[in-house]
Amino acid sequence: MDLMEFQAKELFAKHDVPVTLGTVIENAAEAETAAAQLGGRVVVKAQVKVGGRGKAGGVKLAENPTEAVARANEILGMDIKGHTVQRVLLAPAADIAEEYYFSFLVDRSNRAYLCIASIEGGVEIEEVARTNPDAVAKVSIDPQTGVDDAKAAEIVAATRFPAAVADQAVDLVKKLWDVFIKEDASLVEVNPLVRLGDGTLEALDGKVTLDENADFRHEDHAMFEDKAATDPLEQEARDKGLNYVKLDGEVGIIGNGAGLVMSTLDVVAYAGANHSGVKPANFLDIGGGASAEVMANGLQIIIGDEQVKSVFVNVFGGITSCDAVANGIVHALEMLGDEANKPLVVRLDGNNFEEGRRILNDANHPLVTLAETMDGAADRAAELANQN
Ligand code: GDP
Ligand code: MN
Repeated sequence: MDLMEFQAKELFAKHDVPVTLGTVIENAAEAETAAAQLGGRVVVKAQVKVGGRGKAGGVKLAENPTEAVARANEILGMDIKGHTVQRVLLAPAADIAEEYYFSFLVDRSNRAYLCIASIEGGVEIEEVARTNPDAVAKVSIDPQTGVDDAKAAEIVAATRFPAAVADQAVDLVKKLWDVFIKEDASLVEVNPLVRLGDGTLEALDGKVTLDENADFRHEDHAMFEDKAATDPLEQEARDKGLNYVKLDGEVGIIGNGAGLVMSTLDVVAYAGANHSGVKPANFLDIGGGASAEVMANGLQIIIGDEQVKSVFVNVFGGITSCDAVANGIVHALEMLGDEANKPLVVRLDGNNFEEGRRILNDANHPLVTLAETMDGAADRAAELANQN
């Protein structure tokens, strides 16, 4: 789960990382009082889960409360890379002397953590890495030992933080490490980390990705969930306990097992190239027990997606045999009745596939086409999506 800046800063504050929390508002009119309380001169910042808000005009300075209302008016409702701004954060305008970049992330390929930091912050780090790679420090972190005093000092030295802020930086690096580890984050990024006019360091922006698999030990993370911004279909799927991700395409996908579903996305994308470039519409893993109810729930979610023109059900029978899945499909279609109104291409293989295919053949449902192979099914589903 990605957090918005104000949420990331709340987590920072919890671990004593220096931040200014400010005030979050949804109506521009509230900016007047909020700005006055914050000292008048404020920065108004769009709260959306994408970077580059500054460049897009989503971060603006206001000299006084009246201007704050005007800036909030401009930024609220703005579209930043497809995200509509519903909230802005007001914070006292910082007196910035220098901007740095700092991050901790998971380095999967090296089975370690990685710190990327630079004293050339404020701009996109990818840009710095391209134009001035020497200015970007990368320090690998052994997950067994983490960031202790020595590691924090190594990071600060490698980044070449100015001597005047080095001690503060060591302290801050350890606190950000606390955020990263204690909150089970997979990313903690601060850009910019600033040196203020008075010489102190402050996290002026924050980007945090929390590992949802660790939610069970973080009751307080539930407050970060933004139900309004979650795609309604994804929310419905979550409520039904389904593992569903909405994508931008026309071929609905249902499969059992995450690996199979991912390869199904690949073959559909590949087949789609021959049918006006139709694409997979979603990821949906119905898991091991493909009962009629689970199948009906899955189909209902996918059919509810207006963009979907055809559905590809790809099942490899294992512990759940194909005849059980076939019965699940037949009953699911009965349960859905008229709601089931999009063509289904079904490929059954593995445990008891012959019986599964026989059940579907006998049911002879007008919407269902049986396919022998995964590639053949993908091609047929793409073709149907393109026709409808
Ligand atoms: P991003 O563009 O989405 O990463 O948003 P940031 O929060 O990083 O803000 C972008 C830039 O706006 C920063 O790099 C700063 O240069 C500037 N900025 C943000 N807050 C303040 C502030 O309080 N005072 C001043 N002077 N500049 C700010
Ligand atoms: Mn930033």
